[in-house]
Amino acid sequence: APVAAARAKVHCNVGTIGHVDHGKTTLTAAITRVQAKTGLAKFVAYDQIDKAPEEQRRGITINATHVEYDSPLRHYAHTDCPGHRDYVKNMISGTSQMDGAILVVAATDGHMPQTREHLLLAKQIGVSHIIVFLNKTDLVDLETLELCEIEMRELLTDYGYDGLATPVVSGSALKALEGDLEAEKCIAKLMDVLDSYLPEPRRDTTSPFLFPIENAFSVAQRGIVAIGTLVRGRIKKGDSAEILGHGSELKTVIADVQVFRQSVPFVEAGQNCGLLLRNVKPDQLDRGMIVCPPKISKAYNHFKAQLYFLTKHEGGRNKPVRSGYQQQMFSYTWNMEARIDLRPPMEMLMPGDNGEVYVALRKHMVLEPQQRFTIREANQSTVATGVITSLLP
Ligand code: GDP
Ligand code: MG
Repeated sequence: APVAAARAKVHCNVGTIGHVDHGKTTLTAAITRVQAKTGLAKFVAYDQIDKAPEEQRRGITINATHVEYDSPLRHYAHTDCPGHRDYVKNMISGTSQMDGAILVVAATDGHMPQTREHLLLAKQIGVSHIIVFLNKTDLVDLETLELCEIEMRELLTDYGYDGLATPVVSGSALKALEGDLEAEKCIAKLMDVLDSYLPEPRRDTTSPFLFPIENAFSVAQRGIVAIGTLVRGRIKKGDSAEILGHGSELKTVIADVQVFRQSVPFVEAGQNCGLLLRNVKPDQLDRGMIVCPPKISKAYNHFKAQLYFLTKHEGGRNKPVRSGYQQQMFSYTWNMEARIDLRPPMEMLMPGDNGEVYVALRKHMVLEPQQRFTIREANQSTVATGVITSLLP
């Protein structure tokens, strides 16, 4: 059974992206059908995938279907969205963090506007590996197919990927879904490429620790304890650290690490814990400051981001946003007033649009590319979701 076996296997998150009608959903169904033949998946039919359930995430409605399948080596969770806008929201909000994406391109059309938009978003949100699936080969001749492959490699290179090294698998998702034995080979090839080209997701217990403070309090005779959830890395008792954010820069040592008020030697990503911090005073700490290793992180107050504005129906605004729009930005455990500026030729962003914006914060905070945030208006309703694409000095 795939589910039982999955626990022992490396887990990867993948998804289909690409232009509407190029065959993303057909391919998703075909993968489950072919893998089901050897007990590596449960078949999920095309129409089950296409009537994607609505997901609520921070007030944003995203239609997405998650299917799962195994290769002999790995377990894959795969996301397919019905519409272009769902992809945009899914990618910007980081709802399904993809370790790699399968870019589906119909060889009958070649790359189209949404192919390029998804590729741009994938690059911005940090999807490091793309695999191209050239679909609908039953409808084109070899020459067209070869030309399409060359164009895709060039496009990938233009968008900052290694176009020459990118695996390109071609086939007919529809024929594979219909049980054509010859066409099924393209699914086997795709699975091989997923296994070999996508690196194992990095265990984030090994990267430098990042601990956003939720709150802090004094413990009699001991000092200050900061409470929060470790986003990544590992913190040990005795580690040196910096506390950055809200314009401050403090040096400290982790004098103790506690989980449920019990002292422990270390904590790892995902754990909620208390850190006893040496050499800091209660009034120096604030919610949203980041505890990190010395000289690793930096605070900024200016950055570029890709932002999606919710529609009225999604709980967003009914009016467009123009340069100089000021609202509260939320990220990790902090929130702060932020000003959003647009650059010509963009004059405004309509609800339902996404675009590149420039954001200025009132104070310096620890920011990194690919960090997610939301913008909420005074009544606490989320009006936008964004991802930082680059930091500005
Ligand atoms: P999506 O919008 O990218 O999810 O595209 P769909 O999977 O819904 O496919 C769009 C249309 O293309 C459907 O009518 C499919 O049956 C058809 N289609 C998908 N793959 C193939 C293929 O390999 N060959 C042919 N001839 N048609 C295909
Ligand atoms: Mg679809």
